[in-house]
Amino acid sequence: MQLAFPADHPQVPPPETSGSSAGTRSAASDPRWPLILARDPAADGSFWYSVQTTGVYCRPSCPSRAARPENVRLHDTLEAARATGCRPCRRCRPDEAAHHRDAALVVRACRLIDAAERPPAHDELARKLEVGSARLRSAFEAVLGLSPKRYADARRAERLRLLLPVAATVTEAFHQAGFGSSSRFYDKAAELLGMAPNRVRAGAAAETLRVAVAPCSLGAVLVAAGERGLVAVLLGDDPDLLRRDLRARFPRAGFGEADEAFGAVVAQVVALVETPGASHALPLDIRGTAFQRRVWDALRDVETGRTLSYAELAARAGAPAAVRAVAGACAANPLAVAVPCHRAVRTDGGLGGYRWGLARKRILLDREAASSTAGASSTAAAAAPITGPAGGEAAS
Ligand SMILES: [Zn+2]
Repeated sequence: MQLAFPADHPQVPPPETSGSSAGTRSAASDPRWPLILARDPAADGSFWYSVQTTGVYCRPSCPSRAARPENVRLHDTLEAARATGCRPCRRCRPDEAAHHRDAALVVRACRLIDAAERPPAHDELARKLEVGSARLRSAFEAVLGLSPKRYADARRAERLRLLLPVAATVTEAFHQAGFGSSSRFYDKAAELLGMAPNRVRAGAAAETLRVAVAPCSLGAVLVAAGERGLVAVLLGDDPDLLRRDLRARFPRAGFGEADEAFGAVVAQVVALVETPGASHALPLDIRGTAFQRRVWDALRDVETGRTLSYAELAARAGAPAAVRAVAGACAANPLAVAVPCHRAVRTDGGLGGYRWGLARKRILLDREAASSTAGASSTAAAAAPITGPAGGEAAS
């Protein structure tokens, strides 16, 4: 049924059989040929094919009309496809690493989902992005480890969680977050939120955080905790700035002063800053998006004294192509040291960034390196304090 050939595979009279052994056998007998006919995106990366008549090589999912099997040769590697002397197809771009194309596609898809008032249907989204439904799904799975629908659901739940405490009514919050107002959506939201929307609303309004600022060898450390555990550990020089940062992060919360029990928690946090690799039993109430939490969980699994690149961290968080987003999640970490974002560095060994200042990152890494080699944490903790009014004061 080959009636017409698009630009990339124009029908050119095949060359005389040139004695090339591979050319004498039709690709139709190869078990992979049906994958080409099906343009199966799952086959991309496992083999390539070249079309002798057009001098082009393609990936299996190439959208161009299939060439005649007798003109096609299959290659196990990209190098082998290149070695034929053919040029890469302009439509399917077989040279681009699959995950780069996937990541670019997923970024565009996420923007569309984020910008839409209601999550677009999968097929509609694929149509807007001019890709097949299956390709869109597999790209999402590869880059984010989620289906587009689960991503959209998570984003909508996040929006709802933010809106519930501030919207005039629960119904209003549902509308603004992109849910309908029927009870069906209400049940779905409860499932996504992990509790009834009313309780989110009431809980957020009523929350009181216990707060204290203590001196430590890195300057000042602000410790804040809610009912379930620590919600913030912030490092800096100026206690007032730290308190302002906390209020910006928890605009609806009330702030209570520390009692004696909380003093013990603060002392543990200070000890952790002085000995950043020490194991601790501090309960953490980690609040962030699903993606941020995956990054932070991966950081907590990094051994003391070890560092890893943002790219490795992205891989461990199940999103190998999302390196920039992973760096962003590190910068957004509200629990300095307790979630050891200081262990994430650049691929070239450079320090990368640190929300609390590069000098502090350097000191924390030096302390960890010293304590993991010497085994003695107390000497390591005595490393040079950074300058500042509270410099040098340690709790222990
Ligand atoms: Zn192609």
